Amino acid sequence: MLIDTHSHLNFNAYKNDSEEIIKNCLDDDVWMINVGSQYSTSCRAVRIAEKYLQGVYAAVGLHPDHLETKKEIEYKTKEEKFDYKKYRELALSEKVKAIGEIGLDYWCQPKNKIKQELFKEKQKNVLLKQLNLAQKLNLPVIFHCRKAHGDLLEILKSKFQNSNVKPKGVVHCFTGNWEVAQRYLEMGLYLGFNGIIFKLNLDKVIKKIPLERISIETDCPYLSPPAYQKQRNDPLSLKYIIQKIAEIKNLSYKKIAETTTENAKKLFNI
Ligand SMILES: [Zn+2]
Repeated sequence: MLIDTHSHLNFNAYKNDSEEIIKNCLDDDVWMINVGSQYSTSCRAVRIAEKYLQGVYAAVGLHPDHLETKKEIEYKTKEEKFDYKKYRELALSEKVKAIGEIGLDYWCQPKNKIKQELFKEKQKNVLLKQLNLAQKLNLPVIFHCRKAHGDLLEILKSKFQNSNVKPKGVVHCFTGNWEVAQRYLEMGLYLGFNGIIFKLNLDKVIKKIPLERISIETDCPYLSPPAYQKQRNDPLSLKYIIQKIAEIKNLSYKKIAETTTENAKKLFNI
């Protein structure tokens, strides 16, 4: 059995055929966690998961991209304010295995210095509120972090330095270097890899990360592995990620598959 720890079958891309895809995945022994990025997609992730006895789970959270209204043609989004109570209520479902995806995204920031500061402050603020929710419910966190590792590490350090609990979770779609990876690993976090490993050369860092701390994911509908030859990715492409990690680490497919499944079960309490 394999577990896709980060899929988005709750997104509009699968509006008409998510059930069919999930059936194919379960028939093939591929389980999944559908991850929310705002309230609507978080609700849908929970609703989908609740239809299945096992194999389909959810994560709920507000992604930093949805804190601003964006009008770019390819990516429209309306500003959402984080509502602790509403997310808490969703997260109480037994099928919710994590808070996520939440974090920091400085990829597309305002040019004006003051606006830039406000933009970052808002993201940090909402992240902290969601970290509190995760802690309260004793759930792991799925972190999204783009161009912001310094600030994320800083937040985690200050939040957890005087506490005897360690942060629990995964930095999904990790593309940082070994120095950054080490800092997350020291904190006890996992690092998540998906089809981006075919685009960027992350071989060196993947080689060094202990297999026991690697989480595998597809981030579908995005990041389809080239050999999968599908524009719209899905959890069945997990095999290509495992194959690639097996080559990089010079270990068998079986070893990578078994260990990463164990990792997912342990981290997400599945
Ligand atoms: Zn995602």
